[in-house]
Amino acid sequence: MTILDGKKISKEIQLEIAKAVNKLNSKGKKTPHLAAILVGNNGASQTYVNAKVTACKNVGFKSTLIQFDNNISEKDLLIKVDEINRDKEIDGLIVQLPLPDHINSIRITEAISPLKDVDGFHPINIGKMALNIPTFLPATPAGILELIKRYNISTSGKHCVVIGRSHIVGMPMSILMSRNSNPGNCTVTLTHSRTVNLKNITKKADILIVALGKAEFITSDMIKEGACIIDVGITRVRSKYTKSGWKLLGDVSFDDIKNKSSYITPVPGGVGPMTISMLLLNTLKSVTGFDS
Ligand code: NAD
Repeated sequence: MTILDGKKISKEIQLEIAKAVNKLNSKGKKTPHLAAILVGNNGASQTYVNAKVTACKNVGFKSTLIQFDNNISEKDLLIKVDEINRDKEIDGLIVQLPLPDHINSIRITEAISPLKDVDGFHPINIGKMALNIPTFLPATPAGILELIKRYNISTSGKHCVVIGRSHIVGMPMSILMSRNSNPGNCTVTLTHSRTVNLKNITKKADILIVALGKAEFITSDMIKEGACIIDVGITRVRSKYTKSGWKLLGDVSFDDIKNKSSYITPVPGGVGPMTISMLLLNTLKSVTGFDS
């Protein structure tokens, strides 16, 4: 069994990005610049956005954090998005989700220029992804592809089962694993909350990608011997053994499953660290294009 070390791979990618930024600078080209919009004071969102801004600094990008009160109107937020779309200095824009209930997040996502949509959530970019046209890929699924690639895990002809159909993880993941590319070329089964006899399906998976948000949901009796297990879930639970009083659990019962799997991602330190690196990679590509 091999543990897929997302923390290590993520550091390697960020070093590669920092080198690319140095190269751009030495040629007198533009330094990539990411703008992040944060609405309200949701603690988790604040933490995620701060981590993204810090990561930008670490690789030599410029970043701008724009914060609004919870009561900003949808119209005013759209005006800001439009302003950033037209700002030649800014290459990538993310609007941290979730947004307050009075703001339609689909309308905001659609308002972001597809050329600056480094989260890869715009319908045009989702369409391009499905058609295998180079574009910004959603960061978490892209991070999983990159982990699979860097560990040389063979995917062609394999049965990949994805649990969860969210727009940010499960749905794009299922498309990416089925595309005619490497990694890809899998036979994919996408499962969700209405799936009947889930265990019968997961037991047939060569590659199992789990993104449902239920701590330790997948147990060893649900997987095939030698399967590759990718755990996307993050649930914070109380713990009397940590200093903070909290710990993070994945959707997979790691200790129960690890010896039955061929490859497995830990939580934390697996998929999570890859997500920010992929956002940085998308921001770099918004300057260099998709060929490099
Ligand atoms: P979501 O809540 O939007 O979607 C959950 C999906 O799971 C839904 O499609 C639902 O149909 C499915 N589901 C629920 N119960 C099920 C069941 N019993 N059987 C089969 N399917 C079931 O979640 P999300 O945004 O995709 O996130 C999933 C998990 O991944 C969460 O724990 C989230 O915190 C984590 N996450 C991690 C990262 C990362 O960078 N590591 C990024 C995004 C999300």
